[in-house]
Amino acid sequence: MLENKKKDQMNIIYPKTLISTDEIEVYGKKEEDLFHETNPFEMAKKQIDIVAKEMGLNDNIKKYLKRVERSLIVSIPIKMDDGHLEIFEGYRVHHSTIRGPGKGGIRFSPDVNLDEVKALATWMTWKCTLLNLPLGGAKGGVCVDPKKLSKGELERMTRRYTAEIINIIGPDIDIPAPDVNTDPQIMAWIMDTYSMNKGRAIPGVVTGKPIEIGGSVGRESATGMGLYYVLEALCNKLNIDLGDQNVVIQGFGNVGGNIAKILYENGCKIIAVSDIYGGLYAKGGLNISKLLEWRDKKNYLKDFKDEHYKFINNEDILTIKCDILIPAAIENQITYSNAKEIDCKIVLEGANGPTTPEADEILESNGIIVVPDILANAGGVCVSYFEYIQDIHSYFWKLERINQELKNILVNAFEDVYNLSRKKKVSLRIASYMIAISRLAKAIELRGIFP
Ligand code: NAD
Repeated sequence: MLENKKKDQMNIIYPKTLISTDEIEVYGKKEEDLFHETNPFEMAKKQIDIVAKEMGLNDNIKKYLKRVERSLIVSIPIKMDDGHLEIFEGYRVHHSTIRGPGKGGIRFSPDVNLDEVKALATWMTWKCTLLNLPLGGAKGGVCVDPKKLSKGELERMTRRYTAEIINIIGPDIDIPAPDVNTDPQIMAWIMDTYSMNKGRAIPGVVTGKPIEIGGSVGRESATGMGLYYVLEALCNKLNIDLGDQNVVIQGFGNVGGNIAKILYENGCKIIAVSDIYGGLYAKGGLNISKLLEWRDKKNYLKDFKDEHYKFINNEDILTIKCDILIPAAIENQITYSNAKEIDCKIVLEGANGPTTPEADEILESNGIIVVPDILANAGGVCVSYFEYIQDIHSYFWKLERINQELKNILVNAFEDVYNLSRKKKVSLRIASYMIAISRLAKAIELRGIFP
């Protein structure tokens, strides 16, 4: 086994399937290569290099895009319920605010680190630019396991984190939103802390808020709806009957749970789903409505009892033979080490950064179509943008309008990406990046470099 100390020093998130040095030798990769494959920011920069080469991008622009604008690291001291002090580390990163205020979620997770947040901020830039939203890319996180905090501790930690990053967020600067382990209640605490400091209600400082305080209808299910619209558009191109497909989903939270529900209601057979502690598999299909009820009562899938369902862990779920695989948990799940085993027609990226560039190459050479995160899961940021506009105008839309405008924007973006990928004979990921990078490069050129 790799020494834990060494792993910690290098801040490596190893792919879970690569745990012994023996295995590393078998796969013919050195530890250093693995660091570069699975460090998310290295991965984000590598994606820029690959696309820059494909596009013949100017070296100065490439250099510019591989840097984040600013990273703020904060200490968050919290008096715990029993009186002792805990100090958590938090981050907020702006990758680019060239085309508008930063936009991106906040995650609370024990795995969060600066490089992860930088990568996620970079991917937010591409996502907003690909949809042509007047927003930039940002992201935040706190290194904490929120499940170990009481509600009071979680609220104090959220409010102190907000106070620490208050100078670099705001409706005209950077607008956070929910991500892994954060929800509308947490957004409400952020909005309240910000508003109390400014002396008036400022709902536009965050999106993904409860509807009662300026949130938007349709935001909670937006990422799942967006995944569905993009998948439907792809299936139309490929003459695939979506209702006949077998689907596997890793992650059963906001993104995984919503896409599971939508596909289940549209007749797909969901044969496996998982949460952080593993999941369930049934060849004949799972009853998603029952599993969502189970999850909503704060239960884990591993404890659900049904004689027809088999337990499956988070590594094995990815290699189940299926038609559509939806990684919807965290980054770095499909890597060099397991990509050869992936057995599906389409990978629809619900999570951000679930596939490494090395794995991308393997999937492509095996004829698997990957719908990249910056297109597939962009429904969330799109409805966040609608929420931001509604807050500015103090005028709120109906759900039909939200879903119609969401579908228009995503299907148009999909058409642009699909057509370019055909024209240039490149993957959907490279085509998505080419569109986003050329738009941002043009904006940089027009604005010029200050001073
Ligand atoms: P969530 O916290 O609601 O759900 C995450 C799910 O993944 C849960 O089922 C959790 O148990 C599981 N999980 C967490 N850590 C895991 C681990 N180490 N291994 C396996 N499973 C794990 O989060 P979410 O909002 O659904 O986000 C999931 C992914 O989608 C993230 O990559 C996020 O950045 C991305 N995303 C979210 C949104 C959004 O609107 N919420 C939008 C775009 C992209």
